Amino acid sequence: MTALRNLLARRIAASGPISLADYMAECLMHPVHGYYQKERVFGKDGDFITAPEVSQMFGEMLGLWVADRWTAMGSPSQFHLVELGPGRGTLMADMLRAASKVPGFEEAVQIHFIESSQQLRALQREKVPNASWHDDLSSLPQGPAIFVANEFFDALPIHQFEKKDGLWFERCVGADDDRLAFTLTQPGAQFGLTPEKHKAAPNGSILEVCPAALTYCANIAEHIEANGGAALIIDYGYAKSAPGDTFQALKGHQYCDPFAAPGSTDLTAHVAFDHLAEAASGFSVEISPIAEQGQFLMALGLGMRAQQLAAETDEAGQTRILSELKRLTAPDEMGSLFKILALQHENMSSLPGFS
Ligand code: SAH
Repeated sequence: MTALRNLLARRIAASGPISLADYMAECLMHPVHGYYQKERVFGKDGDFITAPEVSQMFGEMLGLWVADRWTAMGSPSQFHLVELGPGRGTLMADMLRAASKVPGFEEAVQIHFIESSQQLRALQREKVPNASWHDDLSSLPQGPAIFVANEFFDALPIHQFEKKDGLWFERCVGADDDRLAFTLTQPGAQFGLTPEKHKAAPNGSILEVCPAALTYCANIAEHIEANGGAALIIDYGYAKSAPGDTFQALKGHQYCDPFAAPGSTDLTAHVAFDHLAEAASGFSVEISPIAEQGQFLMALGLGMRAQQLAAETDEAGQTRILSELKRLTAPDEMGSLFKILALQHENMSSLPGFS
């Protein structure tokens, strides 16, 4: 039994079931027992591998995208490059290496990380010492900004609702003796955020909303509207959301019971990209179509970069580069499941990668 399971069981015994969003937030971000605070998250001996950890080419392509948008903004002499959920700092290091080839970029860029985990902040500081850290966007200074988020939105807490006997209930987390389990309660206010068109779904259907994701996306759009800039959001999820249960727990690259060991397993949900686009649509910003990662990276020149790297290495290196390229772009690997949404200030040249 984990310490966090005891804490949660006591809280539920005292004041009743908690929302799935509260459960996810405690499990992932509890300052002492939270998953990102204490576990070995990334890599072969961790729980999952993200695109920047698969290959340096991923960050290099995104770095060129960032440099291109900075140029399209008129190359401001100072701007904020904001990464949400930077993990080990690999993506930022790779982006900066590629983008710094563009004259003036290195002198202009001010790096900001949105990161809740102290453990990961320490890793990020080793790779990118000259950054500023924030708990969320509220302390970000005004000024033109480019935002990048890879596998950040899937970690944000969701609410789930289930239809039973023609009525919608919220799927909360309750305790049966000491065993944590789903239980249905009256829906909270967040039910109002679910799309109207899905409310006629049949009994047994599950709807998901991620209020934190909608707030982050709206705040990013608001910052871009007021200050200029652009954003790139990458994650696994849907271009068009539908009823369904995407809540999942992962340990050592295997799916597992999300209630067995709170704080020790990664908890995520698929990102509803249409909800994010909708959240941004309340602001005067340009919103890209929702693209697939494979097509996006190839349109940015990933194939050419792979060839270039392959020409500089031996046969074993070439095999590795080819397998990284496949991992990032093949439809049966990360190429189709991972989606891209970009935002930018109105009146900028057309967004690269979405042709
Ligand atoms: N972008 C990285 C890491 C993805 S894992 C990569 O691609 O490798 C998710 C990251 O988001 C971690 O750094 C985690 O600590 C951070 N994170 C998750 N939820 C957060 C929240 N609510 N606020 C701030 N950071 C959060």
